[in-house]
Amino acid sequence: MKSLMDDLISLSQSAFLLGRNLGDSVLMLQELVHRYHKEDGVPKAAIKIDLEKAYDMVEWESLWVGMRWFPSTRGLRQGDPISSYLFIVVLEIFNGRMRKARKKSGFTFHPNCQQLGITHLSFAYDMIILVSADMTSFQVLKETLRVFGDLTSLKLNCDKSKIYFGSTPQELKKCVWEELRQREVKVPWTKWVCSRYEIARYGFVSWVLFHGKLSTKDRLLRWGMDVDPKCVFCSKMESQENLFFQCHFFARVWRLVLQKLGAYKVSLSCSQKREWCITTLRGRSFKKRLMQVAFMCAVYAIWQERNSRVFGDGQVSADIVYHTVVASVHGRASSWRHIKRSKENLRLYL
Ligand SMILES: [Zn+2]
Repeated sequence: MKSLMDDLISLSQSAFLLGRNLGDSVLMLQELVHRYHKEDGVPKAAIKIDLEKAYDMVEWESLWVGMRWFPSTRGLRQGDPISSYLFIVVLEIFNGRMRKARKKSGFTFHPNCQQLGITHLSFAYDMIILVSADMTSFQVLKETLRVFGDLTSLKLNCDKSKIYFGSTPQELKKCVWEELRQREVKVPWTKWVCSRYEIARYGFVSWVLFHGKLSTKDRLLRWGMDVDPKCVFCSKMESQENLFFQCHFFARVWRLVLQKLGAYKVSLSCSQKREWCITTLRGRSFKKRLMQVAFMCAVYAIWQERNSRVFGDGQVSADIVYHTVVASVHGRASSWRHIKRSKENLRLYL
């Protein structure tokens, strides 16, 4: 592997690689920031990035993106003998994203970096991003980190990241740093997907679904994998939106579930369904909790059925999937305590 790395990894990475000297990067960085205390010159910033999850668990999926041929069956953990090599391969994805970013209009290089094409330097555990301190460059950077995070699960940890400014007015410092730190707004479903009534295994698939991370075929295609793009149920292009909110298979299972819970009233358009699920399923009543668990069980059962069809392990009808869902909901709800044995609750449950 060592011999391959030199060709694979770009020059901005120097850790762990034979013939590359970490000291060179250190010297370069010193050179670039040594006039940071002066007031004159253009606004510039050096950001020491801390990546959450770094070295702990890099998804093998991202190695697919990085190298195309690593198996995608388990995570990469600190301490694996080749983990440091594989980790810098994953960081190579970041290098690729940054190469794209610097071509975007509005992105401005850190002074003295344009000619060398330097946007960042990575050391063993740390990465320093060098950029002009202006709003547009920071917006480009934020988007780049977001895409990198989506691909690899390595997210910017704002609390541990540090930023150093040179020749930057106070007000501008605040604005650009805020721009980078701004977190995504919490979405309303997190509460019930993560509630204690969930069934960990079932809830997990919904959690991944709402994060837009299920490995549906449209995503696999985007990663350059050779797959048949058709949905196994309806033959349209398989995406998360199709599989769980548009496809007739999901619609059938979900309609039966809602009918059983006495909640099926109007037929909703496809785009409304997702919204409806997110907003209507909120709440703590017995009925809402049953619906939440039913939704998670339905998503889980449909994902299972989809997988067994993709891998040729036979298939069952939507009605059978519905019965599996009902059985799972029963199993779960029977362990809940403090449920009022009212007529209404019993009717819902039985
Ligand atoms: Zn479909």
